[in-house]
Amino acid sequence: MAPMSYSALSHLDCSRCGTRYDADRVQGTCSCGSPLLARYDLRHVAGQVSPRDIAGRPADLWRYHELLPVRQAGHVVSLGEGMTPLLPMPRIGEALGVPGLLMKDEGLLPTGTFKARGAAVGVSRAAELGVTAIAMPTNGNAGAAWSAYAARAGMASLIAMPVAAPPVTRATCAVAGAELYLVDGDIADAGRLVAEILENRPGYQNAATLKEPYRIEGKKTMGLEIAEQLGWRMPGVIVYPAGGGVGIIGIYKALRELLELGWVSGDLPRLVAVQSAGCAPIVKAFQAGAAESEPWPDPKTVAFGLMVPKPLGDFLILDAVYATGGTAVGVTDEALLAEQSAVARLEGGLICPEGAACFAAIRQLRESGWLSQSDQVVALNTGTGLTYQENMG
Ligand SMILES: [Zn+2]
Repeated sequence: MAPMSYSALSHLDCSRCGTRYDADRVQGTCSCGSPLLARYDLRHVAGQVSPRDIAGRPADLWRYHELLPVRQAGHVVSLGEGMTPLLPMPRIGEALGVPGLLMKDEGLLPTGTFKARGAAVGVSRAAELGVTAIAMPTNGNAGAAWSAYAARAGMASLIAMPVAAPPVTRATCAVAGAELYLVDGDIADAGRLVAEILENRPGYQNAATLKEPYRIEGKKTMGLEIAEQLGWRMPGVIVYPAGGGVGIIGIYKALRELLELGWVSGDLPRLVAVQSAGCAPIVKAFQAGAAESEPWPDPKTVAFGLMVPKPLGDFLILDAVYATGGTAVGVTDEALLAEQSAVARLEGGLICPEGAACFAAIRQLRESGWLSQSDQVVALNTGTGLTYQENMG
């Protein structure tokens, strides 16, 4: 067998129609408009690498480099991302009726949110393929992360976000040297502006959610880390705040790859997509048993990252939820803000409103009996509460 290379990336597949694409050229979406997913030679990885090898590597997300798309170690653009803590949450867990509750705390990542994972891998791979400028619409946090990693790579960035996005994310883009546009509207309006500008900007790659194939590969590492941190075992339930939903799609992809590698066994965790009641297209689709969502009219929530009226990857989020026996839950702003305070008071955790939505969902699901006291539940806190200090009180 050939020696193991840094990445086992083999090709890209369309997530809807299955058309195969060359992974070593810059790609956007499939000609059918759907996201492309990276595929790896997992048999080769299984024959050459073991969890024991992974254990001896540095504590960042690049420890899984065979399962990531960057071909050469020298092309990695890093700010020290990954291996965030998986914290026991006994007091809030007791209060919610799930004493075994764990929280994966993404607030410790560069730029303060889980967006750093997608940005690190997406920017590294783009730079490796010769891209010199990226552009994207954002609700704030992704723009902050991508502009920081673009700066680290010596790459230009163009970011468009709603004027109502958290001010600190705007400041991060500006200080990192991004060309910044503020839109009087939502992320869909920002997306239209970016598409319009890019018509006259050859050389810019559109790095909008799922419009390029590698952000999801970075997000996937949340799933890899959870499994490794549990001793190469999967929890019973993972609760995830879904805006664009790349993280839940990525976690699902990661765990299926680990099953195929034989590094974990048993049933996949039930995946829960949490949304704000003020913008809940996935919840509505789930309740109708639909395969796709409808655009949510007039979205409103303090959990700004959840304000995505029609995620491009909606069918992939729903597929992950249906296939694992999971569910989708909407929570009110009032409920999530109450849990944000409770997590700070009971555990000292300064979590973001999106992360707090998971705790509100867990309370609902325990009350309805969907969760039992003995379930091992992992809640994803996607960012630091410091980004949203105006909500704290
Ligand atoms: Zn396609």
